Amino acid sequence: MNDHYQLLIIGGGPAGLAAATTASGQGISCALLDEQPAPGGQIYRSIESVPDTRAQTLGTEYLRGKTLAAAFRESDVEYYPETRVWSLNNGREIGITHKSQSKIITADQILVASGAIERPMPFSGWTLPGVMQAGAGQILFKAAGVIPSDGVVLAGSGPLLLLLAWQYLQLGVDIKVILDVTPLSNHLFALPKLPRALLAHHYLTKGLVYQRDLSRAGVKTKIGASNLQAAGDDLLKSVNYRHLGREHTIETDLLLTHFGVIPHIWLTQSAGCKHQWDNSQQCWRPRHDEWGNTSIEGILVAGDGAGINGARSAEHAGRIAGLQALFELGILTESERNKQAKNDQKWMKADRHIRPFLEAYFAIPQSMLATTDNETIICRCEEITAGQIREAVETGHGGSNDVKYITRCGMGACQGRQCANSVAHIVADAGGEAVSESSHYRGRPPVAPLTLKQLASLTKENRQ
Ligand SMILES: Cc1cc2nc3c(=O)[nH]c(=O)nc-3n(C[C@H](O)[C@H](O)[C@H](O)COP(=O)(O)OP(=O)(O)OC[C@H]3O[C@@H](n4cnc5c(N)ncnc54)[C@H](O)[C@@H]3O)c2cc1C
Repeated sequence: MNDHYQLLIIGGGPAGLAAATTASGQGISCALLDEQPAPGGQIYRSIESVPDTRAQTLGTEYLRGKTLAAAFRESDVEYYPETRVWSLNNGREIGITHKSQSKIITADQILVASGAIERPMPFSGWTLPGVMQAGAGQILFKAAGVIPSDGVVLAGSGPLLLLLAWQYLQLGVDIKVILDVTPLSNHLFALPKLPRALLAHHYLTKGLVYQRDLSRAGVKTKIGASNLQAAGDDLLKSVNYRHLGREHTIETDLLLTHFGVIPHIWLTQSAGCKHQWDNSQQCWRPRHDEWGNTSIEGILVAGDGAGINGARSAEHAGRIAGLQALFELGILTESERNKQAKNDQKWMKADRHIRPFLEAYFAIPQSMLATTDNETIICRCEEITAGQIREAVETGHGGSNDVKYITRCGMGACQGRQCANSVAHIVADAGGEAVSESSHYRGRPPVAPLTLKQLASLTKENRQ
């Protein structure tokens, strides 16, 4: 690995792969770094190694990743899998660990295509063994063919929950119930956005087919379920919820939850790029222009890390950002860039017709975003409860960063990934800064876990 590249791409999902393929053959030094062992990102995880039968179950959309990964493999871009990026600064220096060796490298252009994470959602009992995110369930299947053997309860909201339920149905998994926490009022709020969504009707059709198949197979979906609680002493034993005004309990040792996805912004945060609260997506995202330029020169973003728009848009945005990097490097003229980007811009625009409808339909209810159960742990690493956060606000600490200093929430191994959004919502609910005005936890390197040994492996020049 060189110490300097003209273009560095962080992330090997659809956005990063498309950007890399665009930059290939242009005579520039370019490398793609990804912490996964193989290309594909979240949606196309294990795409190169998955057995055919498993790939069929994952659907035609998943298979699309094969073409992307193959084109990337044919490119002249240097590829460093199992490489974790743990820092990025405004001087375009990044800290990485590859095969236990840490290194600082620099680039003229850096594209952050770090994707999304599932929205962490604290509720009573969410830290019990046996409660996992639905994405983790899907990762187990994509990467290792592992599925639940004794039945599962699925709970939450969003297209990925429905997709996983449908995939499990194909595999014969016993789905005990789907607890859909989407409030019925969302259906009404989403209605005015339906005509535009019809322009991208293939997404709606797909969702309706999943629902039809699940219902035909007798899988029960409780729409508008609320008061979700996971119960058990040391392990999950049952799930409690309210539906149509009545309390229910269902016994299970596996609960998979999903509450949508939010951009992975820890690298752009630590670099100091400007971010904004996106009310419709209920999350922060980096500010960027139509080419992916952030507020810091030479740092670009593309894909779900720039704002949630799904895999197809991520691919288009990756190509557009790749062209922008080539333009900045003097390889393409402005008119060549504009000409080559036209098709992707057109398709991206068409693909995004569905987003306003999805965002309104699957908006997470405020009662879940800011839990009023003060016993619930919000920061898993430091074991800080909702009550402690409210108490901090009551004693005059009215912003997320103030609450962080006083309680240590967000200072653990995950560096706030699991609690940043929830803390902001609870702070606002307790009378502190409104979420739209409050600032995200300040980003500090390392943004990903780094051992002392890995840090010490930095070469002498790197340590200065
Ligand atoms: C768990 C999960 C499962 C999903 N499954 C589906 C699905 O089945 N179908 C669907 O339509 N959508 C799915 N999505 C949404 C989907 O991820 C996106 O729409 C799409 O993958 C976005 O592409 P991307 O290139 O922006 O990011 P991603 O595909 O997420 O790729 C980002 C890559 O960056 C890497 N990365 C991040 N941070 C670092 C770092 N610090 N150092 C090194 N590498 C890093 C990640 O490991 C990842 O490989 C899923 C999302 C999640 C979170």
